[in-house]
Amino acid sequence: MTALTLTNVCKSFDKTEVLKDINIEIEEGEFVVFVGPSGCGKSTLLRVIAGLEDATSGEVRIGGEVVNHVPPSKRGIAMVFQSYALYPHLNVRKNMSLALKQEKRSQEVIDARVAEASRMLDLDAYLDRLPSELSGGQRQRVAIGRAIVRNPKLFLFDEPLSNLDAALRMNTRVEIAALHDQLGASMVYVTHDQTEAMTLADKIVVLRDGRVEQVGSPMELYNDPVNKFVAGFLGSPAMNFMPADLVNAGDKRTLGVRPEDLFLADDGPLQVDVTHVEKLGGDTNVIGKVGELQITARLFGQHDLKAGGTLGFGFDGAAAYYFDEGGNRVR
Ligand code: ADP
Ligand code: MG
Repeated sequence: MTALTLTNVCKSFDKTEVLKDINIEIEEGEFVVFVGPSGCGKSTLLRVIAGLEDATSGEVRIGGEVVNHVPPSKRGIAMVFQSYALYPHLNVRKNMSLALKQEKRSQEVIDARVAEASRMLDLDAYLDRLPSELSGGQRQRVAIGRAIVRNPKLFLFDEPLSNLDAALRMNTRVEIAALHDQLGASMVYVTHDQTEAMTLADKIVVLRDGRVEQVGSPMELYNDPVNKFVAGFLGSPAMNFMPADLVNAGDKRTLGVRPEDLFLADDGPLQVDVTHVEKLGGDTNVIGKVGELQITARLFGQHDLKAGGTLGFGFDGAAAYYFDEGGNRVR
């Protein structure tokens, strides 16, 4: 069964069109990530799904049922925000119980659900603490716990890791992935961070300026992007773009090559004036210029290279992507 279906969803605020004809299907149990730059409409789309905003036109179905006129509390969804949105005067247990109390669940059910969620999230030791007595990572786990206890049909996450430092972001990311495996629930997760999208998603939806650019598994999108935007958005360091006639005389297209597909070749077609060398231990990033164009190469392992000189790079024909003037992929 489909967990969520969006059909021709549009949303405008006054005259500003923010969502433009969005069509997305999410299967039961899928982890779907909406990714795109800041301001492209991700939060608005999530809020339309949750019922916190009305779609201007189009249809939202959750579990097969049209919910356009169903209030948020009756949609079977639970939402986790970047800001945690915990009640500061309630301890962890009460924060996690509140929605169930409001649904008039028995104390027995509430206790069992809170115990189960706090065990999953490693919060047992913190149930009597106030949010102010927790770290950022713990607060976000409470916010996630508050969603879990409601046993929703659909989880909605809006950039839940953005307030955490880098190490905690990575840990919490792994925990959210584990949680999805355990619960088997349908999840929609919004982020501007391509790494989160690549690592968490069964299916990625790339959004730009209120439109869906491409939908697919992380590797489908990485290996087979439909346009220059998707090609450049997924992958870090990002794909290199250059006029194709840099290597093929007279070719008017744009050529794209991923940093890891460049290899050292003295007489290679790209003679790069090296400006930086980033030694990451496992990888070495070589950053430099061909004329005005910035090029990044990612070499596996450690290399004794320095900024200053010129290095030649080559790539296999099979690693080259071509784009027309409109940015669409040419095959
Ligand atoms: P994202 O989450 O991808 O960063 P948002 O969905 O928050 O983007 O916003 C998308 C666009 O919609 C932005 O240009 C934003 O200014 C606009 N927008 C969002 N909410 C409102 C609102 N309530 N009124 C007017 N414009 C809004
Ligand atoms: Mg947002």
